[in-house]
Amino acid sequence: MTKERVTERAKALVREYVGKGDVVVDATVGNGYDTVFLAELVGVRSRTGSIAGKVIGFDVQEAAIVSASKRVPEGLRGIVDLHLVGHEEMGRVVTGPVRAVMFNLGYLPGGDHGFVTEPGTTVAGLEAALGVLGPGGLVTVVVYPGHEGGAEEAVAVEEWVGGLGGEGKVLVNERGGGGEGVPYLVAVELIG
Ligand code: SAH
Repeated sequence: MTKERVTERAKALVREYVGKGDVVVDATVGNGYDTVFLAELVGVRSRTGSIAGKVIGFDVQEAAIVSASKRVPEGLRGIVDLHLVGHEEMGRVVTGPVRAVMFNLGYLPGGDHGFVTEPGTTVAGLEAALGVLGPGGLVTVVVYPGHEGGAEEAVAVEEWVGGLGGEGKVLVNERGGGGEGVPYLVAVELIG
């Protein structure tokens, strides 16, 4: 049996934590696949026609925000709030507690490689994620160590995981498991 793609493993975990009506964050909107996945997961229409649940998305690349907005099905657009802002600024944008934050690192395939995620802002984003999560909330990180600068970013994520102490419980850390350069999943639950 072929192994599920790493992004599918991240989604499977998110499905275990997130339900209808929840507020969640897509920290790296990119093409918007996770944004749509999250919107479908949390979006719920009441009998009065109003829709609950919220997806707050971040990306520093305008092209990503534009294409992701188009990808969101019309009926779910009202619950998706995309920001042309780095995820390291998450704490300024997100006010209430959220249930999950998804990171998909690296660069946008087919996009501008100049917008690759960087160790410093990634770690700042991960810290910010812990700050906006409610107790028992989930952070997933898909790490791409194969591209230029990716190995350094993987080390930075590993150091962040190692420094969590009692604040976070490491649910998954596939680092090293798939071989050199292979994308992998890291997931942390906020203790609280
Ligand atoms: N590597 C994945 C796609 C990752 S897309 C794959 O192969 O499918 C990563 C996205 O993060 C890009 O759209 C990029 O613009 C965005 N990004 C880079 N730095 C960021 C930051 N500081 N905050 C939010 N998004 C960022």
